[in-house]
Amino acid sequence: MNHLNEEQATQTLMDLLAVPGLSGRERQVADLIIRRLIEAGCKPDWIMEDDAHTRIPGDFEMGNLIVKLPGTVDGPRLMFAGHMDTVPLVRGVEPVRKGNRIVPKGPTALGADNRTACGVLLTLVETLLRENLPHPPLTLLFTVGEEIGLWGAKEMNPADLGHPAMGFNIDSGDPEEVVIGAIGAHRWDVEIRGAAAHAGVHPERGVSAILIAAKAINRFSEQGYFGLIEKDGRKSTSNVGVIQGGEATNQVTDRLHIRGESRSHDPEFLKEITAAIENAFLEAAASVASTDGRTGKITFNRQEDYHAFKISEDEPVVARTRAAQEALGITCRPHVTNGGLDANFFNVKGVPTVTLGAGQHNPHTPEEYADVDEYLTCCRLALRIVADSAQ
Ligand SMILES: [Zn+2]
Repeated sequence: MNHLNEEQATQTLMDLLAVPGLSGRERQVADLIIRRLIEAGCKPDWIMEDDAHTRIPGDFEMGNLIVKLPGTVDGPRLMFAGHMDTVPLVRGVEPVRKGNRIVPKGPTALGADNRTACGVLLTLVETLLRENLPHPPLTLLFTVGEEIGLWGAKEMNPADLGHPAMGFNIDSGDPEEVVIGAIGAHRWDVEIRGAAAHAGVHPERGVSAILIAAKAINRFSEQGYFGLIEKDGRKSTSNVGVIQGGEATNQVTDRLHIRGESRSHDPEFLKEITAAIENAFLEAAASVASTDGRTGKITFNRQEDYHAFKISEDEPVVARTRAAQEALGITCRPHVTNGGLDANFFNVKGVPTVTLGAGQHNPHTPEEYADVDEYLTCCRLALRIVADSAQ
């Protein structure tokens, strides 16, 4: 049973990699996907776009792209999902083939995260329709804004999906690995307000927001809450990702805005980490004073970014994945990830969803590449899952 046209599947991936589509700017890649779906034989009324973008902050061109194929056989509906957007480092990419890999020609990332998923989903539909293969009802979900906070998945309305019984999200590398759980995360931001003063004439009359930031970050780092966090056998991470502020070297900086995140599998530990970070900023603000007794002030906001989840290995979605992997001669390796995935929200919204790998490696770096063999394996895996569900 090999219906996969490998050359075409690989060309599809090359085509998808060549199209720009940063978060919020997914229109062009969506248009390519829609055109190819129609050419493959999808009816226009199987294809819809939701209104998620009206609820996403910022300027988004479109919502999620959802395709619902009627089944040729009865059976529970299956969902396949992947995000369309890529990170800013992908801007200007020129994908080139190098042996078994596709790599970026210049100093950009590649966007294999997550165009490999778009390629698998397109190839799945093109193959099913071209070869007239039996299949249960299928939903394809192409999400927007994954890279800046899982926005499309978060704002997706599950009623638009046609009630899939289970989901297969594609957003990883190794096709043997099956993500059955993920970490929860806080995204936090802090506004530090000090007091401005002339830095050459009367610096003592100012309260430096930058000094407060430095002391705070140093404090929670010394307490073990920065970067890789390991306490009493519990592992987590935190990061300070963005610092914005300051206008001139001769002015005591009175305002600074900092954004960061904390992640953990353990909701209590997650709270503890973010609280330690907030406390460090509070203490640092109180400890920096001007000669007239003014101290710094902070406003700390935290947002629950995504929820931790764990699917039992007995669930049908894991069993089907395992059976398809074994049929292809590959091992099933269930795994819990430290990253946030669209699947966090699919699971929270009632669609038990695993995440599979389609050959993306070193995402978000100039060393990113797509492993073509792994990508093709994931194409076969998707076809096999559908075939097993059509019996
Ligand atoms: Zn991704």
